Amino acid sequence: MQEALKLDALIIGGGVAGLWLLNRLRNEGYQALLLEQEALGTGQSIASQGMIHGGIKYALGGKLTGASKAIADMPAHWQQCLEGKGDVDLQGCQLLSDSYYMWPRSSLRSRLNAFLGSKALEAKVDSVEKSDYPDFFANNIPGPLYRLRDIVLDVPSLLETLYKNHEGHIFRIDWQHAALEKNPDGSISCLNLAGKRDIQASKYIFCCGAGAESIISGKEFNFTAMQRRPLQMVMVRHDITAPVYVHCVSDKLTMTPEVTITTHRNGAGQPVWYLGGEIAEQGVQQSPGQLIDAARTKLQEIFPWCDFSGAEWATLPVDRAELRQEDGSRPDDPGISARHNILMCWPTKLTLAPNLANTVLDILQAEELRPTEPIMQVDFLDKPVIASTPWENL
Ligand SMILES: Cc1cc2nc3c(=O)[nH]c(=O)nc-3n(C[C@H](O)[C@H](O)[C@H](O)COP(=O)(O)OP(=O)(O)OC[C@H]3O[C@@H](n4cnc5c(N)ncnc54)[C@H](O)[C@@H]3O)c2cc1C
Repeated sequence: MQEALKLDALIIGGGVAGLWLLNRLRNEGYQALLLEQEALGTGQSIASQGMIHGGIKYALGGKLTGASKAIADMPAHWQQCLEGKGDVDLQGCQLLSDSYYMWPRSSLRSRLNAFLGSKALEAKVDSVEKSDYPDFFANNIPGPLYRLRDIVLDVPSLLETLYKNHEGHIFRIDWQHAALEKNPDGSISCLNLAGKRDIQASKYIFCCGAGAESIISGKEFNFTAMQRRPLQMVMVRHDITAPVYVHCVSDKLTMTPEVTITTHRNGAGQPVWYLGGEIAEQGVQQSPGQLIDAARTKLQEIFPWCDFSGAEWATLPVDRAELRQEDGSRPDDPGISARHNILMCWPTKLTLAPNLANTVLDILQAEELRPTEPIMQVDFLDKPVIASTPWENL
């Protein structure tokens, strides 16, 4: 039997959190591998809208909340990475839009307008001149329209870029032929790969999204539980060519816009709007048919100049997985639960994957876990693929 492969960190789960963390750890010289059980990004990352928020969305209630402050600098951080000047090289990642819009379409806009125009936000939000409206809105809305400094990424190209940067250290795991072995104190002793080389790591870092639930609920682990916050997203394929990236804000001025739209392309290159926000939160209570009817009515009401008669519709039920909060609300920051040599990680938002990695690095450094000698090439595991988008075949 060959000696076990020794690592500083073994990451389980290849969504944006695990991939970003692997990039950071390897860039810092740590010997790390990532193992993914399905396709990279399965679950939340490939289903996300790809928005890198600066937190203004969370300020909709009229004040800067903890969440809005926590992510205020993130668009600039990601922008640096896209230019190859950040802590992770994202030069291969495609930018779908360099800004995101907010349209308070209601008649009771004054409170929001006062807030968006306030001193607190002047560096983060611009009121757009009519002559600068994006094509989709030009001549169609009375205004005002605000431009946020948020950016929108093409998530498949993000996952691909994070993968390619460290391809030799990212593999598939088949749990039918693998098991984590534990010490009597509950720490993990190794990953047994049934006949292949075992893997031993100083830290075992789980970035499994909702998949963490089955791991943490095991008797031996008994970690702080995670929470799920469900959504039912709506996808609309149509022939409106001008892309749309907008939060539509109604009278209610809740923290969640009534509809949050991003534009993507299906496998045939046709435009697909992906609808999140309040419609996706409330949609959890509805059947797909009811939600599609509600979404059709809502879009026709919001965009009376558009024709959706030939559109194709579909919905996607999907859960957001996070570190559990006492009141079940969205955490402001990435969540990490630590025990023995194990870390359970949830970034809370794609946007916050860099913060999650920073926190993990801080933990390793506080424990004086330093990078060790380079590992030899791993040639006994298969390569994963990138997950397909939910709208690929719409
Ligand atoms: C509909 C939707 C839209 C969103 N839009 C945005 C947005 O626009 N901007 C934003 O900032 N955030 C957004 N989010 C949140 C964001 O997508 C998530 O916070 C982020 O993608 C979570 O990444 P993750 O890597 O933790 O989990 P996931 O993306 O769920 O990845 C987990 C990975 O672990 C793998 N895995 C699971 N169990 C195991 C196991 N036992 N062994 C090996 N591998 C395993 C899975 O196959 C998967 O690849 C959105 C979320 C949803 C649901």
